[in-house]
Amino acid sequence: MRIYLQVRIAAALLLMCVASCFGAVAQTKEDPARIDVDLRDAARYIFHAQMSLPVKPGPLTLVYPKWIPGEHSPTGPIVDLTGLKFAADGKEVPWRRDSADMYAFQVEIPSSAARLEIKLDYLSPAEANGSREHPSATPKLALLNWYTVVLYPQGTRSDDLTYVASLRLPVGWKYGTALPVAKEQGGEIDFEPASLTTLIDSPVITGQYFRDVDLSPGEAIKHTLHIAADGPTGLAPSATEVQHLRQLVAEEYALFGARHYRRYDFLLSLTDRMPPDGVEHHESSDNRTPEGLFLDPDIREMHMDLLPHESVHSWNGKYRRPAGLATRNYQEPMKGELLWVYEGLTQYYGQVLTARSGLWTPERFRENLAATAAYLNDRPGRAWRDLQDTAVSAQILYGAPEEGSSWRRGVDYYDESILIWLEADTIIERETKGKKSLDDFCRKFHGGETTGPKLVSYTFEDVVRTMNEVAPYDWRTFFEQRLKSHGPGAPLGGIENSGWKLVFNDTMNDHARAAEAAEFIVDEQFSLGIRVHTAGGPAGSEIVDVIPGSPADRAGMAPGMELVAVNGRKWGPEILRDAIRRANDSKQPIELLAQNGDYFESYRIDYHGGERYPHLEAIGGKVDLLGEIVRRRAGEVATPAKF
Ligand SMILES: [Zn+2]
Repeated sequence: MRIYLQVRIAAALLLMCVASCFGAVAQTKEDPARIDVDLRDAARYIFHAQMSLPVKPGPLTLVYPKWIPGEHSPTGPIVDLTGLKFAADGKEVPWRRDSADMYAFQVEIPSSAARLEIKLDYLSPAEANGSREHPSATPKLALLNWYTVVLYPQGTRSDDLTYVASLRLPVGWKYGTALPVAKEQGGEIDFEPASLTTLIDSPVITGQYFRDVDLSPGEAIKHTLHIAADGPTGLAPSATEVQHLRQLVAEEYALFGARHYRRYDFLLSLTDRMPPDGVEHHESSDNRTPEGLFLDPDIREMHMDLLPHESVHSWNGKYRRPAGLATRNYQEPMKGELLWVYEGLTQYYGQVLTARSGLWTPERFRENLAATAAYLNDRPGRAWRDLQDTAVSAQILYGAPEEGSSWRRGVDYYDESILIWLEADTIIERETKGKKSLDDFCRKFHGGETTGPKLVSYTFEDVVRTMNEVAPYDWRTFFEQRLKSHGPGAPLGGIENSGWKLVFNDTMNDHARAAEAAEFIVDEQFSLGIRVHTAGGPAGSEIVDVIPGSPADRAGMAPGMELVAVNGRKWGPEILRDAIRRANDSKQPIELLAQNGDYFESYRIDYHGGERYPHLEAIGGKVDLLGEIVRRRAGEVATPAKF
């Protein structure tokens, strides 16, 4: 309910800066600013906020956060900032938006005023819509990201601003957050003072159907899973799932050897109204999956690596952060060149820990790795764009459409880095004759002392140096070659070093099967070279991608067309697969009828290779290093009788 802004800088610097940097703001602990956020209209998709800032007379520029941590992009939802009003001494203060910077608001504080009152509303989208922020509310739950409702003085450091916030919830809704609470009463929560950095890093989950699960019973540092669902049936993790999530907490500690949070809160929204997504924070994570996470095995398989991924970020991304992403405030541009460490190493360990904790079986881990390796190996876009450029362009690629992604490439530094870090893991094992692994790098780089939230930034040189301390090797060349490679093919050395090889056969890949069911897609990219949305799904029968150089590409097909019929019959997943199987024993081409704009055209695909799905096959006589990598490290956590 209150924020106050306290600038912790030397008095002399303050004097120098007061006119140019901070305009008219004069924050002290004795004269705090305040904020109240009211979520009682969340089900109507509107969040209300009021702020009161101590000010001095003169010009002042306040800004709305633009570069959002974890999104690595200038995606602050400025279009949904509404109802903005400023007042001082009981009179309205006119505002003017900077004509070049849409996120900056200029006001003139009257000579007699000591405080500036601000009112604003944030409109949370009711539906997912490509160009807007994801929905943050449904009729039954909401996620408050403080960056959607806060303004701060232009030019300040977010670490230097201290806020006290309060929150009003809809009647009967429960909540969870890592932001320390001072007191609460009747749906109104007062929080302890926190820096703007911590405030924005500490979202709040709230909902009518709500459940807390203790993930580290008896430990001094609490780990809590807060689940909010659109209905009561979704709140149903099994005892085994709770055991696996508790094992995850234990495995993360076994891996890193230290923690950099006072408590850790997994915020989990189970809803079909928000796209599946996750955003990392230092002491919590905002995880969003379909409502059926604990009910539908396909959804479970598809999304169970989300919590491990987002929580690994507390170490890799929040505690250790690339210098280009460790910005002073939310207006300063972020530079993504080291996202192959920030996201890539997290993607690798997110999946390794999913397996170590039992959330995936080792077989499932391998199927996922096979699917990842196969699609990246068949990614013609690498001919023009290297992996490094996918990281540098993160800020435009997160919003890239799925259509044409094999030629454009997407945020490939997530998945391709799995292959790179796996290879690095196997090289450390080889060079140290089995004495060390990439776990030793993590312990050195991300471990140290257990502390509260802390940021230690790093450069490429720091990564290379620490890798060398673990196992002397030409790591600079190793990483540079893989980051700047134009192929052909993905770096598959780690799979081979770990005793496996990528093969294709006509048995469906388990990961692909779950993905097809959960994402309404038919994936025949390794046979015909197409991925198609299923007719029953939300996107109709759109051909999502046609792999350049594939049989479908050579026949003239393109992403964006609608598939209509296969060999003269209305298409469906089984009709398409049956045609591929039959063509295996025939010389007849497969005929696909597609709609392109207002026109229909038939495409004859001369393909006779049958269905092809990726798997890993053990290389005879080689040690199964993958099995060793996903082996449990911590002692086994007991399955709870009650939780
Ligand atoms: Zn991530």
